[in-house]
Formats: sequence, C-alpha cells, structure tokens
Amino acid sequence: MLSIALASPADPFASLNEEQRAAVEHGQAGTPAGPLLVIAGAGTGKTMTLAARVARLVLDGADPNRLLLLTFSRRAAHEMERRAGRLLHAALGFRATQQAPALPWSGTFHAIGARLLREHAGAIGLSAQFTIHDRGDAEDQMGWVRQELELATTGKRFPLKGTCLAIYSRVVNSRMTVDEVVRDLFPWCQGWEAELKRLFGAYVDAKQQQQVLDYDDLLLYWQQMMEEPAIAAAIGARFEHVLVDEYQDTNRLQAAILRGLKPDGRGLTVVGDDAQSIYSFRAAEVRNILDFPAQFEPPARVLALTRNYRSTQPILDASNAVIALAAERFTKDLHGERGGAKPQLVTVADEMAQARWVAEEVLLHREGGLPLKGQAVLFRTGHHSAALELELTRRGIPFVKYGGLKFLEAAHVKDLLSVLRWVQNPRGRLAGFRIAQLVPGLGPASARRLLDAMAAEGDAVQAMHSFKPPAAAAHDWREWLAAHEAMRTAGWPGALSLALRWYEPHLERLHEDAAIRRGDLAQLERIAAQYPSRERFLAELTLDPPEATSDESGEPHRDEDYLILSTMHSAKGQEWSSVHVLNVVDGCMPADLATGHAAEIEEERRLLYVAMTRAKQHLALLVPQKFHVTQQSKYGDRHLYGSLTRFIPPDVARHFDAVGPAAAPAEETAIAPLPAIDLMARVRRAF
Ligand code: ATP
Ligand code: MG
Repeated sequence: MLSIALASPADPFASLNEEQRAAVEHGQAGTPAGPLLVIAGAGTGKTMTLAARVARLVLDGADPNRLLLLTFSRRAAHEMERRAGRLLHAALGFRATQQAPALPWSGTFHAIGARLLREHAGAIGLSAQFTIHDRGDAEDQMGWVRQELELATTGKRFPLKGTCLAIYSRVVNSRMTVDEVVRDLFPWCQGWEAELKRLFGAYVDAKQQQQVLDYDDLLLYWQQMMEEPAIAAAIGARFEHVLVDEYQDTNRLQAAILRGLKPDGRGLTVVGDDAQSIYSFRAAEVRNILDFPAQFEPPARVLALTRNYRSTQPILDASNAVIALAAERFTKDLHGERGGAKPQLVTVADEMAQARWVAEEVLLHREGGLPLKGQAVLFRTGHHSAALELELTRRGIPFVKYGGLKFLEAAHVKDLLSVLRWVQNPRGRLAGFRIAQLVPGLGPASARRLLDAMAAEGDAVQAMHSFKPPAAAAHDWREWLAAHEAMRTAGWPGALSLALRWYEPHLERLHEDAAIRRGDLAQLERIAAQYPSRERFLAELTLDPPEATSDESGEPHRDEDYLILSTMHSAKGQEWSSVHVLNVVDGCMPADLATGHAAEIEEERRLLYVAMTRAKQHLALLVPQKFHVTQQSKYGDRHLYGSLTRFIPPDVARHFDAVGPAAAPAEETAIAPLPAIDLMARVRRAF
C-alpha cells in the first residue's frame, strides 16, 4: 500500500477520484517513477491531476528547481503553477500572504529550449547572444535568401517565401525529407526539390552567420544537443521529473527531446487526449501519444480518467455524438454527473443577427448572476468576431480577445523590440536593417553598407562605431550610437526605458497617431518589468506573444469583468460556464470546402469538439444562414449561403435544442441556393 496521507478536511488531495489519485501518486514509496501516460477525455481533470502531481512531488521532497513542466502556452504554465501552489498552500497550511514555491522551469517547449540553449551556448558553438526570429521575421529572412539565390526572378514560378518557410518548417518538425514533405503535402511544388534544398541550406547559413534562431530551430537545436550523450546526461540529470500537458499536440522533435532527457522514461509523465489533437499544421503527430508507452522498456504505465467534472451530461452527450463520427480515436465517451438543459443550435439570418443574439444572451446570463468572465465566445479565426466586437462595443459590454491580437506586429512595437534585439545581437540583420533606417538620412543602401561592414568585422559593435553615415544622417547617427552604448551597459528593464527615450522622437515623426501608440509602448514597459532579463523578455515575447491586453497587464484590470472572445485554438485547456460558438457552418467548420484533405477535415471535427467541451453549463452553436467569407482566392470576398456544418448531421442534431427559424430537422430547413439569373442581360433584352 502506498504511503499517503489519509483524507481529512485539511487534505488538499481528498477530492481526487481513485484514478486521479493513482496518477498523482504514481511511483511513490521510494522507487523512482517509471514513465506514465494519462490519456483521457476533455474535462476529466488531466491538467488538475498534473498540478496535483507537482504538488505531491514537492511535498515528498522534490526540489521545485528540478521539476520541468512543459505546457502549451505561457498562460497555461502560470495556471499550472497557480493550481499547484494552491494545493501546496492547503497542504502546508501556508497563509495566503506567503508565496508557494515557484516553479522556475515551467513554460512552453520553445521557451524552455531557448533558455537551455543559451545556458549551453558555449558548448555547442552558438553565441549566447542569439536572438529569435518570429514567423514574420523568418519569412522575411527566407524571402531575402530566396532573392539572393535568384529564385525569385519573374518567369520562374518558384514557391513564395511563405510556402518555402512552411515546407522548411514541416521538414524540421516532422523529421521527414524535403522530397517526402513536398510529395505528400505540397504537391504543387514538385519539381523544385533541388532548389528548395539549396534555399534551405542558404537559409540555415544566413541564420548561423547572424546568430539568429527561428522558432523551429529552438526545438531542432535542443534535440540535436540531446543527441550528444554528455550534454543529454547533464541536462537530463538536472531535472528529476519532467511533466508534459497536452501531449497530443507535440511533434516528433518534441518526442525525441523527451527521450533524450529521460531515455528510460523514469521521471517522465505526459497527459493528453487524442480526440483533441488540433495542431497537425505544426506537424503535431497524434501517433506520438498513442506510441508513447511502447517506446520504453518496460513500457509506460497507462492510466485513463473516466469522469468528466466540467460539463453537464447533455453537453457531453452532444460532444460525444460529434466525436463519435471521427474516423479513429482512442479515448472513450465522456460521462459526467450533472444534469442540465440540452445545448442549443441557433439559426440566425446573418452575422449581424448572430452578433445581436450573442450580445443579448450574454447580458441575460449576466442578469442571471453569471459574470462576464465566466462566459466565452469562440470562433474559428480571429476576424470572425468583427461583427460581434462592434455590437459589444455599441452596447458597452467589455471584452478581451485572445488569439487574434497582433500586438507585436504593430510597427511601433516591432521598432522598439528591434532596438533591443539589435543591441543584444549586433549581427542580426533584420533588426539592424529596420533600426538603421529609422535614423533620418540613412536609406536602404547605407543600411546595407553598415550591416555588411558589421558582418565582416570580428567586432561588430566596433564596426558600427567606425561607420561613416551620409552627412545628412551624421547628427542622428551620433545620437543612436550614444543610446546604443547606454543600452548595452544598462540593467533590465532600464535598457527598455533608454530604448523608449531614443525612439520617442521617431515615433512622433513617423506616426500621426503617436499618442495612441505610446499607450502600447507603455504597456510593453509594464510587461518588461515582469521579466528578469532582456534575453528572457525578448525570447518569451517572441515565442508566445501576449494575446490580449489583460494577459499581462496585471493589477489594474483584476477587478474588471469582461467577456472572453477567443479562437478555438487558443481556448484549449480552458473552461467557462457559458460558451457560444460562432459560424458553425460548412465553409467555416470545416474551414475550406474545396481543398480539404480527409485528415484536415478530421482535425476540424476535433476542433469543434474542443470548442464544445469548454462549456460547463450553457452551450450554444450559432448557424448564420448568410455567411460572409473572405477567401484568398481569385473570387475575393463572397457571401455564402451557409448550411449547418457537416459535423452535425440530423442524428447528432437531435442532441441539441433547435432555436430560430430552423426549428425542424436541419435537412428540411436548409435554404436551397437560389438559381442564378443574369438580370443585367434580361434588362438589356427588354429594350
Ligand atoms: P482538457 O482536456 O479540456 O484540458 P482536463 O482533463 O485537463 O481538460 P481539467 O481542466 O484539469 O481537465 O479539469 C476540468 C474541471 O474539472 C476543472 O474545473 C477541475 O477543477 C475539475 N475537476 C477535476 N477533477 C476534479 C475532482 N476530482 N473533483 C472536483 N472537480 C474536479
Ligand atoms: Mg487540460
């Protein structure tokens, strides 16, 4: 029998069910824990169990500094830390004012990878000052190399830079060859394999010369580092336990990293749900989770959690019915113990009517005592909430939007971050090119001359100081050099204030709406203060940008109530009392009617399932009959006559209450498209 504290009112683990308890206590009683997989459906307490396991390990004497906790987002890492902290507080009888032990090694694979690479940079021939390219930068860099190799010349129909990056990324993450990736996923690029390989080789060289890593490199370099036995042993040994949430969305590189950290699986715990796998476009492999147990000898222990604590049974019935039509899955149907009303399938005329309906329901729920924060509206892509955002603003309903805000892409925010990046890594060409040209009188040709000189010199900073700018730029260039010197030696976040001070006159000069933009920069300053160093700030912001203003701004917003607007992808792992899902029509769910491969359609089904299983008490899916699509096609914007998504055929629809015009079974009420007539020709003929 395992030695566990008896359940008592003070036992924070008392509410765990038997299966959860088994996962929390796995490997107790002196023996090092063998590999453990918890595979279970939505809302069965996987994340909660992982947090409880962290707390249990700490209570049993594990050093919090030696726990590696890998989550899907920074937000999820904070949440896990908070949950584990609460359990520790309860178990140890801490006062609320005392801080629970922090978990310094919790974060996303990419953020943790960046930290480990920086620490071990010396051993692997990497500059510790490396900076990280986000997707936009990586695309620009790829475009640059593509141009240098003269692959971009007109007449050739070589893939565009975005496609090239997508192929490259897929190759890196899936560990497939260029030939295989092109054949299976980008067949229209066949015939260009040799050029693509040359391009990728030059792209890698360019990044290495500039000491920049892109998003994929963080996993690739980490995984490569783990191939070196001495380094792998050292890094593996510093972490006693490695715990991973949402394992179904990891790819083969991530699996290889975990194997490198814990070759025999001892100390490794992963949790996930194959039915919620929604990231295959990042080469996530659902096979990773299914193959996890057998890669170890002896194989990993597999535990299932069967009871759903989140949703009412009618919501679970509808969700089960949707996922039951999936081609394959491992996890079983969800069962809960709470009754409630059926979820709603609401037919509305168009997106405006949808926005009005949702706004009114949200207010009704609030009247009924449900705070706005307990309610969420989910949608497939960021711009689908535009009409709703207008309606909410008109009615004065505060909201925060996750997953769509392009905070870091705003020019002024990018400028400021580029200043810091260039200070950190003077060889980074993209940041350098951007900043040099902010100096009035310095054009692209001079900027290129400067960067070439810096690349050629052993001491890039020295080369910057020796650079002779055009006469018109002399004064402002001197100001930059002075600011650069000050930023180099300043602490953190002092360096950011100096960057702001240098940038301020340029902000005024370049932007008419400087006052509004200044607000963003002030917010950036607040965010910066939460990070211990410039390196950590830049890395984490690049890898996992703040999704919403409330995400990082802390105190001032804590008491405000606001509705949550989120993409379905960003809703992963979360829950709300009431959930509205917008645009549940074919053409949106699944997103693309024309080109969808079977596997992609299956992924869209799982995405709808993820969205539905976020709801605790109220769930409504909205079906606008007229639906505006912006397609990147030759047709431009279109209005489609929407029909209910194919994922809800009549047999599944009976798990919903039909609301609105289509109160009868979906099949009979679907509006048949009207015949197209050439009215113009008719009118012409009339004369
Ligand atoms: P998802 O697959 O969506 O990530 P999950 O399996 O990680 O879901 P959690 O988010 O951990 O599930 O838990 C869902 C809800 O159930 C949470 O509100 C959690 O507090 C609650 N819960 C989990 N286990 C128990 C339990 N034993 N007793 C009471 N509530 C529980
Ligand atoms: Mg979870």
